[in-house]
Amino acid sequence: CGIVGYLGKREAYPILIKGLKRLEYRGYDSAGVALINDDDTLNVYKTKGKVADLEGFCADKNISGSVGIAHTRWATHGEPSSVNAHPHYSASKNLAIIHNGIIENYADIKNNLIAKGVEFRSDTDTEVLVQLIEYVQVKKKLDTLTAVQVALHQVIGAYAIAVLDKREPHQIIAARKQSPLVVGIGKDEFFLGSDASPIVEFTDKVVYLEDGSIAVMRLGEELKVVNLLNRELNPSVQTIDIN
Ligand code: GLU
Repeated sequence: CGIVGYLGKREAYPILIKGLKRLEYRGYDSAGVALINDDDTLNVYKTKGKVADLEGFCADKNISGSVGIAHTRWATHGEPSSVNAHPHYSASKNLAIIHNGIIENYADIKNNLIAKGVEFRSDTDTEVLVQLIEYVQVKKKLDTLTAVQVALHQVIGAYAIAVLDKREPHQIIAARKQSPLVVGIGKDEFFLGSDASPIVEFTDKVVYLEDGSIAVMRLGEELKVVNLLNRELNPSVQTIDIN
């Protein structure tokens, strides 16, 4: 339902929580956050309920890190529950994903992966996607971006996703098809949102990602936008009126 992301030098958690609150108007049943801290640990915290419940849940957790993604979920596949809330880890817990939309062929992909020994934790269509990304990544020894591209070729449905990989800790990969996604460009930092509302407070430079594109946000680099075939696209940076 709602997506927020941050990559830069500030603490991500407060920015992500604030962003989730800005997206609350959309309605949701659960909320969660994934953070990569300075030790390259990938922590996922999520709960059924409101963003305030997530904050309560995180009160005694390690919420440090300047790379993170966060989500409010409106359940379509799998009941509203903490297990089904996003972010979802891959089996190895190297990857975490958040997702808006519906993966229509999730059952076929899931059955294939189960036959290959992948174990699932949730009932969501979303977990299928992160497990597929990991499966192709391990099998073909791919970097995260290429694994996302290969996996998305097998996917039928609508999605806006953001993916973290703790082995590539200064990076967020975000992709969209039929679900909106906006990148905010700051000074040495990036913001991500399912709409611009979590971003406008921090920067007025935004890119509304086009259908079929993948945004690669890396610390110290310019925003890179590619398609599923890894052709580089020219992102059109807009200056929005933040008043
Ligand atoms: N289909 C996904 C799920 O049920 C994502 C729902 C959403 O857009 O929040 O978990």
